[in-house]
Amino acid sequence: MRWGLIAASTTALLGGMLLIPRRARASTPGEARGIFSIFTRRKRIPSDILARHPKLAELQPDFAVKIAYVIARLESRGFQPKIHRDSGWRTEAQQKRIKGRGDSWVDFSFHMATVDGQPAALAVDLIDRRWAWEGGTAAKRASFWNALREEAAVEGYHTGLNWSNPDPAHVQPWPAHSGMLAQVEAGNWSARDLA
Ligand SMILES: [Zn+2]
Repeated sequence: MRWGLIAASTTALLGGMLLIPRRARASTPGEARGIFSIFTRRKRIPSDILARHPKLAELQPDFAVKIAYVIARLESRGFQPKIHRDSGWRTEAQQKRIKGRGDSWVDFSFHMATVDGQPAALAVDLIDRRWAWEGGTAAKRASFWNALREEAAVEGYHTGLNWSNPDPAHVQPWPAHSGMLAQVEAGNWSARDLA
């Protein structure tokens, strides 16, 4: 019994220290780099990033931390990322309006996720403030959308760049058609699904 307890607590200790990275099985270089984000145990949004991007507070907290680092890396690459005003968190009425003008095609979106009834968006739309969706040149916009996809992949996240209805600014934790949209709408998910 005693040895069992010691063994169990040793395993827990080692597990806690090593934080066995699930993403060690990652198959792409971008995803493999995500291992470091686990080792560095990032739990908080750096305060300077939150001050410049207050809408991060509308996102589910674990998701927000990773998005903060996506933003920081895009900034260090010379981009000017900005959370679009219609994202992160959206009410049902906002979603209806956005769908009505053809900028979304779903009734429930990851932007509308809640935790304990509080806003906790599981998607965010990031634009470069200089160009948004239509400014600058196509090449400049493409450079931002590609960089966003790469930096999201570092966190294991996905953008809508290559969707049949492309939504290049949109970042979410899971690929399209993963079934997670229905799970989130049903409240049937946990923060562990974001790791
Ligand atoms: Zn979106």
